Amino acid sequence: MEDAFFKTADRTFGFSFHGNPLDRVSERREDADFLAALRARPDARALLIAREMPIFAKGEHPEPLLPVTTIAALGGARLEVLLGLEPSGAPVFAALLPDSAVEQRADNSDGFLDRRELFVPGRDDLELVDLRSIAVQGLLPSETIAILGQAKAVTHWHARHGFCPNCGAPTRVAAAGWRRECEVCKTHHFPRTDPVVIMLAVDGERCLLGRQARFPKRMYSALAGFVEPGETIEEAVRREIHEEARIDCGAVAYVASQPWPFPASLMIGCLAQAKSREIVIDGLELEDARWFEREEVRAMFEKRHPEGLAAPNPMAIAHHLLRFWLNRGLPD
Ligand SMILES: [Zn+2]
Repeated sequence: MEDAFFKTADRTFGFSFHGNPLDRVSERREDADFLAALRARPDARALLIAREMPIFAKGEHPEPLLPVTTIAALGGARLEVLLGLEPSGAPVFAALLPDSAVEQRADNSDGFLDRRELFVPGRDDLELVDLRSIAVQGLLPSETIAILGQAKAVTHWHARHGFCPNCGAPTRVAAAGWRRECEVCKTHHFPRTDPVVIMLAVDGERCLLGRQARFPKRMYSALAGFVEPGETIEEAVRREIHEEARIDCGAVAYVASQPWPFPASLMIGCLAQAKSREIVIDGLELEDARWFEREEVRAMFEKRHPEGLAAPNPMAIAHHLLRFWLNRGLPD
């Protein structure tokens, strides 16, 4: 008989950036011969990232996994990372291209860097694509979106860690792109993932949602915030809810987690039992917060809320956390 503590483990909702199919072969990252053989394979492919945006081959089905020879064709990469092996055994790399590999269209009149105006010079067959909009539109298989998230997060870290935080000397890439080493003080640095708690405070038949000014109009979502040093997940959940809405919470239950490559977070989804009811918003992070009855949340999901209020997009864990609460922890 299965132990009870595994019964609720690993809930796989339909949010983006999970379900990465690659075998990361993390135990082989120090094996130079193995890495060189992978890099030379004719079926080796790469995700090219320039100025934080993936480069796609245009077409009816836009393709971000390009032959590794594309890297040299575009003038070479600042660095490469072995993301892992596909189920077929074919290796997949991420390549961080220098900013100079892409250019901005000259007709950008307002002088503000509009990312949609970036292009790869001399390559009409390639285009730069915003990862967030790719995930929102769900135009690619979820496995591919997960690999893109991995590539974006790890190259973002490399792009900002060229110098040692300990002594200021240059660092160099090691372990197939999964470590940087300082040439002077010899400190090893590893890619960061920043934990963020995202949660619903629950008061019986109601849950707490808030909105930030930057949200799409009329969208309400779960509260969220970074876990701080010296905090458990549960403590971070209670602190954030109190900080943003002045609601006290007791029991906290973990539900699921989502990698979130903007730039390199892990969203830790929780429910928290509210012990107080009066909301006072901080006015800094939130412009509004309120309690929502189950029926009201159902109306938001079904796009028939009387005030036109909307639930978060299905790409985000907040959408699924809310659905999970609405369904009382049962599947749809
Ligand atoms: Zn150093």
